[in-house]
Amino acid sequence: MDNYLQARRRMVEEQIAVRGIRDPRVLAAMVATPRHLFVPEGQWHHAYEDHPLPLDEGQTISQPFIVAAMTEALDVTPESKVLEIGTGSGYQTAILARLARMVYTVEIIQSLSVRARLVLQRLDLRNVRFRIGDGHRGWPEFAPYDRVIVTAAAETVPYQLVEQMSEGGKMVVPVGPVGVQVLTLGVKHGTKLVQRHLMGVVFVPFVHDRKPAENGRP
Ligand code: SAH
Repeated sequence: MDNYLQARRRMVEEQIAVRGIRDPRVLAAMVATPRHLFVPEGQWHHAYEDHPLPLDEGQTISQPFIVAAMTEALDVTPESKVLEIGTGSGYQTAILARLARMVYTVEIIQSLSVRARLVLQRLDLRNVRFRIGDGHRGWPEFAPYDRVIVTAAAETVPYQLVEQMSEGGKMVVPVGPVGVQVLTLGVKHGTKLVQRHLMGVVFVPFVHDRKPAENGRP
């Protein structure tokens, strides 16, 4: 049924494990998750190669190594409640769903969210809730979150997301201008986020929803 299992095992060994990703739970989640289902069918034969791929709507699915590195840095446990901003294809969402208790994922482009939901249903990953909207606002109804991951490039650490984290919670977010960012790991202590830089990365922008609110105020 899964013609790509061999390719996937090779991807995990040759692109991910050799570059220092050691967490066995992360590696197992990546072997178990058929990445090709998350990309357009014309791209299936590229799904296990070492680079990002185009999605609809001008967005991209991240390089497998970056997904692995972000997931390992996030340190997800079976008890974790995770907030993900930028559902995109849902691939990172699926990896998180295999590791966490519950994943709440927010995407600003409706068609991507709808497609991702279908793929996760097909994989029978049920511990995920999807929201369409601007991720700068997070998802306050279900806060606090133990882990927050942002998969679009933020100019600064989004403070509303920090507010929605639990004490000791962790956040992984690419921070910097368009074109190049620093992948940042933050740990929340009190009202502060203690930050550490992990590596240079390139993500699509974390866009602002500029639509006026219903009442006409910005
Ligand atoms: N993790 C995704 C990567 C998708 S690329 C994957 O594995 O496929 C980043 C995604 O962030 C895009 O889908 C983009 O539409 C979304 N995005 C950008 N700005 C956003 C915002 N303000 N709120 C929510 N999602 C946003």
